[in-house]
Amino acid sequence: MSDIALTLDEVEDLARRCLFANGCNAANADAISATVTAAERDGAHSHGLFRMPGYVASLRSGKVNGKADPKAETLSPGVVRMDGDGGYAPLAHERSRPLIAERARAQGVAALALVNIHHFSALWVEVEALARDGLAAFACTAYTPSVAPAGARQPFFGTNPVAFGWPRGNRPPLVFDQATAAMARGEVMIAARDGHDLPPGVGLDAAGQPTTDPNEVLKGVLLPFGGYKGSSIAMMVELLCAGLIGEGFSFEAAEYDTKDGGPPRGGEFMLAMDPARFGDPGGWLAHAEGFFAGLAALDGTRLPGDRRYANRERTPTAGVRIPQSLHDKILELSEPAPS
Ligand code: NDP
Repeated sequence: MSDIALTLDEVEDLARRCLFANGCNAANADAISATVTAAERDGAHSHGLFRMPGYVASLRSGKVNGKADPKAETLSPGVVRMDGDGGYAPLAHERSRPLIAERARAQGVAALALVNIHHFSALWVEVEALARDGLAAFACTAYTPSVAPAGARQPFFGTNPVAFGWPRGNRPPLVFDQATAAMARGEVMIAARDGHDLPPGVGLDAAGQPTTDPNEVLKGVLLPFGGYKGSSIAMMVELLCAGLIGEGFSFEAAEYDTKDGGPPRGGEFMLAMDPARFGDPGGWLAHAEGFFAGLAALDGTRLPGDRRYANRERTPTAGVRIPQSLHDKILELSEPAPS
């Protein structure tokens, strides 16, 4: 498969032009293309340009509002609700971040209920931004059903990622971000595209039998990570992102989704905590750094996020590579839609 080298500016330009050509206004195109570019920069390819055909599909079908104008409402001193106006999540995130950060600093902890959004990106983007602002952050979102609860063979949970960020002073924050499925669906799609087998335990085929063939898993169902333990975490995500904030559970999202190739409407739950407001204002940073030093001293460990940060150092000069076929597809999608 031939590929093509792009600078990060070219990645952003490619994404932005394509989004404009498909009905986004500047605010939404800028926010989404920044997220897509950050994913390519960090080597998180399953949430970079690979997603453009899906973004476009839902803009063209009218399911997603490319001119969304997300608006916030403060429900109580510690709870902000942001209505994403039916758009993609990045602009709603940009507008939520200062609000939740300000609330968390004022009182130690603040929650964000993000509703009426279509989340098609990685979650580290939002928790890392809060952690860079000095806050500990948690985020999760529910997605269309593709994961079988422990013991079942039918999809019911989304791949329901959870992400956590911890501020580290002048070092990059500690961030982990992981699907509660054994593997994110985007990664399975990339394995299918590139002709790679999956590790055992990722999913079942349409007949409910274990398989390592990504094409068969895409026709069948993913499994939660860690058996019933991962299944319970996926369930918690459903309750936080749907039950708590009044959005759809994954199974409900599937009922009203148009299945046009883009993400269904859904919700996201976030929590921001100011470590300086929990009783150890002068000591928490050094205390946690001692913990990280102990962890790093163990043979074979690395911190989650380190792979992305290493890519981030490299890509501004090395650029990124994407399949030629994907580049051609995005250019084709950037042409005016056939009338
Ligand atoms: P991975 O399994 O690739 O990685 C999960 C986390 O584990 C990352 O933080 C990663 O850090 C870390 N990690 C990996 N290997 C190690 C190691 N050896 N030691 C320590 N830490 C390690 O991610 P997933 O496939 O589960 O998810 C991929 C993405 O998909 C996520 O960004 C998620 O938000 C996104 N997603 C989005 C959905 C949506 O609805 N919008 C739905 C589902 C998933 P590092 O990055 O540095 O490798």
